[in-house]
Amino acid sequence: MKFAPNRLYIEAYNKCPTCGILLYEKPANALTETVQSNGKTYCSQWCVDWEADRAARRATEAAAS
Ligand SMILES: [Zn+2]
Repeated sequence: MKFAPNRLYIEAYNKCPTCGILLYEKPANALTETVQSNGKTYCSQWCVDWEADRAARRATEAAAS
């Protein structure tokens, strides 16, 4: 992981919107597969499903209130 002195990231990266894990273009660990959905990059299909479930829950709550 590299940081510029002003703490701005100097390498392109994404964060999984669901779990917040950093998704580097070339991760050093075994996390080699990411999932693209709705223009976002997720670390796994599980997180895509989780986000969809959360959206559905929020829609249900909004309709009930
Ligand atoms: Zn994730």
